Amino acid sequence: MTAPRKLYVKSFGCQMNVYDSHRMADMLAPEGFVETASADEADLVILNTCHIREKAADKVYSELGRIRVLKQAAAREGRRVTIAVAGCVAQAEGDEIIRRAPAVDLVVGPQSYHRLPDLLARAEREGAVVDTEFPVENKFDVLKPPAREAIRARGVSAFVTVQEGCDKFCTFCVVPYTRGAEASRPVTRIVAEVEHLADAGVREVTLIGQNVNAYHGEGPGGRPWTLGRLLERVAEVPGIARLRYTTSHPCDMEESLIAAHRDLPSLMPYLHLPVQSGSDRILAAMNRRHTRTDYLNTIAAMRAARPAIAFSSDFIVGFPGEREEDFRATLSLIDEVGYAGAFSFKYSPRPGTPAADMPEQIPDEVKSERLRRLQAVIERQQAAFNARCRGRRFEVLFEKPGRHPGQIVGRSPYLQPVQVTGPSTMLGDLATVTITDISANSLFGALAQTRSEAEPMLVEG
Ligand code: SF4
Repeated sequence: MTAPRKLYVKSFGCQMNVYDSHRMADMLAPEGFVETASADEADLVILNTCHIREKAADKVYSELGRIRVLKQAAAREGRRVTIAVAGCVAQAEGDEIIRRAPAVDLVVGPQSYHRLPDLLARAEREGAVVDTEFPVENKFDVLKPPAREAIRARGVSAFVTVQEGCDKFCTFCVVPYTRGAEASRPVTRIVAEVEHLADAGVREVTLIGQNVNAYHGEGPGGRPWTLGRLLERVAEVPGIARLRYTTSHPCDMEESLIAAHRDLPSLMPYLHLPVQSGSDRILAAMNRRHTRTDYLNTIAAMRAARPAIAFSSDFIVGFPGEREEDFRATLSLIDEVGYAGAFSFKYSPRPGTPAADMPEQIPDEVKSERLRRLQAVIERQQAAFNARCRGRRFEVLFEKPGRHPGQIVGRSPYLQPVQVTGPSTMLGDLATVTITDISANSLFGALAQTRSEAEPMLVEG
């Protein structure tokens, strides 16, 4: 019997990449690859890259420089190390990666990683291989389901990709070019995957997609289903206690999805709804396809459907042409909504996107100053939200041991980490916790005596 080969996968960026990394490992497990947490001992290193942040490609090349040193050291010991670059940088850079980093054996795009076993065999036979096609076969038809042990090792909360790609073409974003057009998986496949996960002990599922609420996968009767309807069906899977979904576009918050927030107790009352700017002029320049009023109306409809809901968002400051009054409109929108958290970035041009060539690019010092002001407001809102949790009771899903002996850590309905003193036998359980204290990034609590003590998960404000 040949010894198992070791696989090290490093995932950058969003949850979609985390999911893809898991699926790559699942695809390679039958080929004899066992995952390792250490690149030093790996026979195969996969960098699953992200193109969203500034200088993404530069970061990948510098990481490749480090991996090349490992490859050379292994070669001196007579051991072959294969290096693969996957994800959105692989898609965007293609052959350029092999040219700039000749130690790389394989470049594989997000739509063709199901071919990994064949591509690796080809790279071993023929030398460097690049596959950034959008193949005719659907990768989800080919991917192998994860083994029970792999699911257990990944924890009680799992991601399931239901939709990929984007047709929105926001002027700052590379996703429509790297991930292609919107495509949704059929309902029956998604439900089967969730059932498989639940059967191995998963309690929480996050349905993911670049534009997840544009979901329009084929239902069992052959007609397309909305995300709201899909959530209803997934909520029926025995063992699944919590549902989430991300990332959403405000234009696609349609009626059945809002109804799902009203009707499904297992759909968590926390929604990431990126708005990017509060100025109609900038929203139009970004091609966001909605106005400030549309967004605020959606927030109001969600709150009417689920009063306990809280929101997070994404903001870009210093988009080309953004004036001080546009930026102030963003601050006033933040005030109006009241967020539980947010991600915020300075605009940085992505080659090939329309905004990169727009006039009136904003000087970096102006962007930095606006970002500081915006983040100060968000931090205050987040602290206020967390402070309102003190004294409340939540159901917490316990995921892992804490840093200190006797401590376990879980997530609140609002995704806040919650630390309590409790036995490790509770990992994987939902339990009611009274929040006793808060810090900048965590809540601390005490286990309530019985589950029936749980209050409705309302955090007003
Ligand atoms: S909706 Fe999201 S993924 Fe699609 S282009 Fe806009 S920012 Fe990119």
